[in-house]
Amino acid sequence: MPDITAKMLGELIEPLRVTPGSKVTLAKDYDPAFKAGWLNRSEGEGYLQTGIELLASYQERLAAQDTYGVLVVLQALDAAGKDGTIRHVMSGVNPQGVTVHSFKVPSEEELDHDFLWRYAQRLPARGQIGIFNRSHYEEVLVVRVHPHLLERQRLPPASMRGDVWRRRYREINDWERYLLDNGFRVVKLFLNMSREEQRRRFLARIDLPEKNWKFSAGDVAERSHWDEYQRAFSEMLTHTSTEWAPWHVIPADHKWFARIAVGAVLVDTLMEIDPHYPKPEPQARRALQDARVQLEREAPKGAAPDPFEEERRRAGA
Ligand code: AMP
Ligand code: MG
Repeated sequence: MPDITAKMLGELIEPLRVTPGSKVTLAKDYDPAFKAGWLNRSEGEGYLQTGIELLASYQERLAAQDTYGVLVVLQALDAAGKDGTIRHVMSGVNPQGVTVHSFKVPSEEELDHDFLWRYAQRLPARGQIGIFNRSHYEEVLVVRVHPHLLERQRLPPASMRGDVWRRRYREINDWERYLLDNGFRVVKLFLNMSREEQRRRFLARIDLPEKNWKFSAGDVAERSHWDEYQRAFSEMLTHTSTEWAPWHVIPADHKWFARIAVGAVLVDTLMEIDPHYPKPEPQARRALQDARVQLEREAPKGAAPDPFEEERRRAGA
C-alpha cells in the first residue's frame, strides 16, 4: 500500500508545490477553485479519512523516535479555512503530540525583540507537530501591506534602509534552513481563496448567528486591500519557496479539496521523514528479559505466567 499511497500523494501534491526560484503571480498561476480532476467529493471523504489515519500512525512513531519535529505554517486571508482545516486534518492525532499557536497582533513585549523572536518561542519540540495558525510570514504580509505596523517595530535607521522585504525573505529562508539542519521540517501551506468566495463566506458569517463571532468589521476593511495582499503573497511565494522549505498553494474555494490536499502534504512529509520506533539496545533488551522473568515468577496460582503471550498464542492458533 505505501507504494500506491506515495504515488497518489505525489500526483496530488506536485501541481501545488511552488518550484523554488520560480516567479509566482498568484492570479495567473494558481486557481483557487482547482480540484484534481480524477477526484470527486464523495471519494474525497475516503481519502481524507485515510490521510487522517496515516497521520495518526506516523505521528505516534515521530513521537516515539523523538528525533525529528515538524512545523506546519498556515497562511491565508480571513475566512480561507485555516481553523477548519486544522480541526479536520488533525482530528485523528494524539493531542499530546501536537501544539497549535495562533499569532495575533504582536504585544509590546514582542515588539521589543527582533521580528522572529516570538515565533521561535512557539516552535515544536522533537517528536512533535507544531502548527502555526498565521506565522512569521505575517512579517512580510500584513506588515508590508500596512507600513505603520513596521514603524511600530522601532527598527534602527540602518535596518530600515534598502529593501526591507528582500532582507526579511533572506532572514526567514536562513532561519528555516537552520531549523531543518536541527531536525525540524518546515511545511508551508498557503490557502488560496478567491475574492468572491471570501465575500460569500463573510456573508455567511453575518447571516448565521452561530457564525457571528467569527466576523469583525475590520475584516471588511482588510478585504479592501485585496490586491495589495495578492501582490504580497505572490512576492512571498517567489522569494521564500526554497529547496529546504517549499511552499504549497492549496486551492481553498472547495473546503473538502483543501482538507485532502493539506492532509496529503502532511502525510507526504512524514513519509519522507519515515520515523521508526526505537529499537532497544542489547543492554536494555537484557533488562526487558530479566523483568519478564521476574513478572512471570509473580504469577498467582492457576494464572498463566505471561497472560499476554498466552492470548497472542491463542489468537494466532
Ligand atoms: P485572527 O487570525 O482573525 O484572529 O486575527 C489575527 C490578527 O492579527 C490579524 O488581523 C493579523 O493580521 C494580525 N497579525 C498577526 N500577526 C501580525 C503581525 N506580525 N503584525 C501585525 N499584525 C499581525
Ligand atoms: Mg479574523
